[in-house]
Amino acid sequence: MSARVLVVDDTPVNVKLLEAKLLVEYYEVLTASDGPSALVIAEDHIPDIILLDVMMPGMDGYEVCSHLKSNPVTAHIPVVMVTALNEVRDRVRGLEVGADDFLTKPVNDVALFARIRSLVRLKRASDEWRAREATAIELGVTDSAQNTVDQNAPGSVLVVAEGMYDRDLVTETLSLQGHKVELAEDDEQALSMANAGDYDLVLVSDGNRTQDVLRLCSQLRSEPATRHRPILIMVPDNEDDRLAKALELGVNDYLVRPVERDELISRSRTQIRRRRYEERLRDNYTFSVNAAVTDSLTGMYNRRYLESHFARISTRLAEVGKPISALMLDIDHFKKVNDTHGHEAGDEILQEIAKRIQSNMRGFDTAVRLGGEEFVVLLPDSSLAAGAAAAERLCLSISKDKIPVSSIDGGLDITVSIGVACILAGESDLDNLLRYADAALYEAKNTGRNRVMTAAGSLPLPEAGEAVQGALPSPERPPSPELAAG
Ligand code: GH3
Ligand code: MG
Ligand code: MG
Repeated sequence: MSARVLVVDDTPVNVKLLEAKLLVEYYEVLTASDGPSALVIAEDHIPDIILLDVMMPGMDGYEVCSHLKSNPVTAHIPVVMVTALNEVRDRVRGLEVGADDFLTKPVNDVALFARIRSLVRLKRASDEWRAREATAIELGVTDSAQNTVDQNAPGSVLVVAEGMYDRDLVTETLSLQGHKVELAEDDEQALSMANAGDYDLVLVSDGNRTQDVLRLCSQLRSEPATRHRPILIMVPDNEDDRLAKALELGVNDYLVRPVERDELISRSRTQIRRRRYEERLRDNYTFSVNAAVTDSLTGMYNRRYLESHFARISTRLAEVGKPISALMLDIDHFKKVNDTHGHEAGDEILQEIAKRIQSNMRGFDTAVRLGGEEFVVLLPDSSLAAGAAAAERLCLSISKDKIPVSSIDGGLDITVSIGVACILAGESDLDNLLRYADAALYEAKNTGRNRVMTAAGSLPLPEAGEAVQGALPSPERPPSPELAAG
C-alpha cells in the first residue's frame, strides 16, 4: 500500500531514520523540521498520515496536532504522535488534542508499519466516504439520514481472552467507552460467535493460551463472514516474529502487554471507525444515491431529484424575483404503441424522446421523467411565453422526424402533447406549478394532441372541462392522428 507520509521532527537524524525506513517500503515521504512548516506542508500536500514528534522547540507536537485537527482541510488526516516519553500522561494529552495513535522512540519497525497500514486504510475509507457525501450533496440528496458516519459511535466488540486479567481489563475499559463487549471462552466459541454476530472488532488475547492465536486469526480471515472484520491482538513483549506473522495473516493491529488503557481505547477506536466506513461503503451508497434520483430506463433524473432541485432554484430565484416555468410532456397514444409494437419498442421510444428533450434544453434547464410516459422540464428564469416557445420547439423536434425503433423499418411517427405553466419563484410551490402544467396538458390532449397549451400560474386552477387560458396550437401542425401501425 503506497501512501504519502509526512514526518515532522526537529532532530534531523530522526527524520532521516524514519524517511529511510519508509522509502524502503515505497512510501512517499515529506518532511518538516518544525511545527509551522508542518502545518503548511500538511495543508498543501494533504498527506495520508502524519508522524509527529512531540518535543519540538517553539510549537510542540500537541499544538501542531490541535491546529491540524481544527483546520477542516487537514482534520481528517491521521496523526501519530511520536514520543520519547513513554508516559500515560503524554498519551492522554495526545488523545485530547485529537491524535489518532502513538509510537514510542526508538520506533520499532513492526509497530511503525502496523500503525501506518491501519491508519492509511482508515483514511482511504473515510476519503471515499467524503467523496460520496460530496456527490450526494451535489445531487441535492442531502437530507438522507444515511448521509453521515458517526465516527465516534460505540461499536460491538467480541473479546477472546483466556486470562482473567486481560478479560477484565478489556471489558471494563471498552464498556466505559460505551462499546458493547461480548466474551468468547475459547476459539471454537469465538469462531461461531464471530460468524453469527455483527461485531465491529474481534479482540484476541494471546495470554497463557492453550490454543494457537495465529490459527484462530487465520480461520477468521478465511471465513467469508469474518474476512473483513478488524482483528486486534494482545501479545507479550519481545515476540516480534510471532507478531510479524500475525500481521502477515491479516491481523489489523496489536497491543503489547501490559496493555495501556489509552492504547486499547485508541487502537480499538481506529479499527471500529474504519469498519464503520467500509461497511457503509460496501452498502454502495453512491449507487443508491444515484439510483434514488435517476430513472434507469432513460438515465434522466426522477421526481425525487426534481423536488430537491426545485427547492434549491426556487430559493435562489425568489431572492431576485424571477419566474420559473415548467413543461409537462406526455406521449400521445402511447398505450397503442405498446399494444401494437410491444413494450420493448415502447421503451426505445421513451429513450429517444428523453434524448430529444435533453438536446432541446438549455444547460441550466432540468428534465426529469416523472413516471410512465410523462416528462417534466423545469426552466429557471423563464416567462410563460419563453416556456411556450421552448415547448413548441420541442413538440416539433419530436414530431418532425420519425423515432427509430429497431424492430420497425424507418421507425415510427410519434407525437407529444405539452402543457406549460409559469410561477413567480417563492410565490408558489412545485406541486402547484405541476398542477397548472398538468391542467394545460389535459387541455392539449382534449383539443387534438400534438400541441402546446399554456396556463398562467397566477390564475385559479380550472375546473375539469373548463377551458384553460392558453396559446392556440400552431395552425400548421395537424392534430395527432390515431396511431397507424408501422
Ligand atoms: P394519451 O394520448 O391520452 O396520453 O394516451 P396514452 O395511451 O399515451 O395514455 P395512457 O395513460 O392511456 O397510457 C400510457 C401508456 O404508457 C400505458 C403504459 O403501458 C405505457 N408506459 C408507461 N410506462 C412505460 C414504460 O416504461 N415502458 C413502456 N414501453 N411503456 C410504458
Ligand atoms: Mg398518460
Ligand atoms: Mg400518453
